[in-house]
Amino acid sequence: MAGGVDLHSHTTASDGALGPRELVRLAARHRVRVLAVTDHDSTEGLPEAIDEASRHGIEIVPGLELNTDVPGAEIHVLGYYVDWQAEWFQAFLREQRAERVARVHRIVERLTELGMPLTADEVFAICKEGSPGRPHVAQAMVKRGYVKSVREAFDKWLRADGPANVPRRRLTPVEAVAVIRRAGGVPVLAHPGLANRDEMVPELVEAGLAGIETYYPEHSVAQITAYRQMCARLDLVATGGSDYHGVHTGRASTLGSPHIPLEVWEDLKRKAGELRNQGQGTAKRAPQPPDGAPEPTQHAHGPGESDPPPSMPGHPRH
Ligand code: AMP
Ligand code: FE
Ligand code: FE
Ligand code: ZN
Repeated sequence: MAGGVDLHSHTTASDGALGPRELVRLAARHRVRVLAVTDHDSTEGLPEAIDEASRHGIEIVPGLELNTDVPGAEIHVLGYYVDWQAEWFQAFLREQRAERVARVHRIVERLTELGMPLTADEVFAICKEGSPGRPHVAQAMVKRGYVKSVREAFDKWLRADGPANVPRRRLTPVEAVAVIRRAGGVPVLAHPGLANRDEMVPELVEAGLAGIETYYPEHSVAQITAYRQMCARLDLVATGGSDYHGVHTGRASTLGSPHIPLEVWEDLKRKAGELRNQGQGTAKRAPQPPDGAPEPTQHAHGPGESDPPPSMPGHPRH
């Protein structure tokens, strides 16, 4: 089979097990020709991934994933072809990661109250320079012997409505979509089959959502069909990827699986071009810019455009 594309993967810059270069080398072995690196709240893996990919004839799609919480569930938004080097966008990601650090402190306090003492430093020792999150907390819990596996940690304690999960204080899903549009990127609703909140799709489309992650290891054939139809009806791009995190992360996906043809990447590039031609301020209902994001301009971001001020204060919603 000709090489395929994989538009969802993680590195040690967030909660993946492999460094960016190792991930790209694995992609080469799996005959992946186009790989999107989509770390949580981080683009730190991109420079090395792009450099390594040039040695293997692999194309890297620059991306990221923003996780947001809604009552009882999580909505993850992927962003592709964002203007990731813009200073305001990097400042925004730094604030996202600062909230992740604060959240780890809140989660370990909660676990300690629940009789499983844990320190934030034990968690940070696992994630090192990466973007800390529950997968690192889960690994620290395994190390302490509180649970046998990362999966058990999520199932018993850390899942969206679990007793030790503490919601984020940052973005709403609509704000996540809006910030990706503002950064000139293509916002895509990640693995909607896991989120089980399809009723939110219309308001996300209003905010500028441009795609749905349709091809996904945990989506059934019926779900894939339904999301393809939804994409056709709403003029969204149907993307897909493995969400590869590597072993020991509690996730069982294989890089490059499911097989996704190159046409899906071509559709994504076409959508990115369309959005850039429209300019960023033309979501169907112009979303309010997150504080600190730049005001809409008539043209797409280009070199030399002045950097708007950073900062995007938290929005406590609970
Ligand atoms: P956080 O970054 O704290 O929002 O944690 C979300 C991450 O946890 C996801 O991106 C997955 O990598 C991982 N995750 C979510 N659910 C599970 C699960 N049931 N088992 C293992 N990992 C999970
Ligand atoms: Fe993850
Ligand atoms: Fe996700
Ligand atoms: Zn992911």
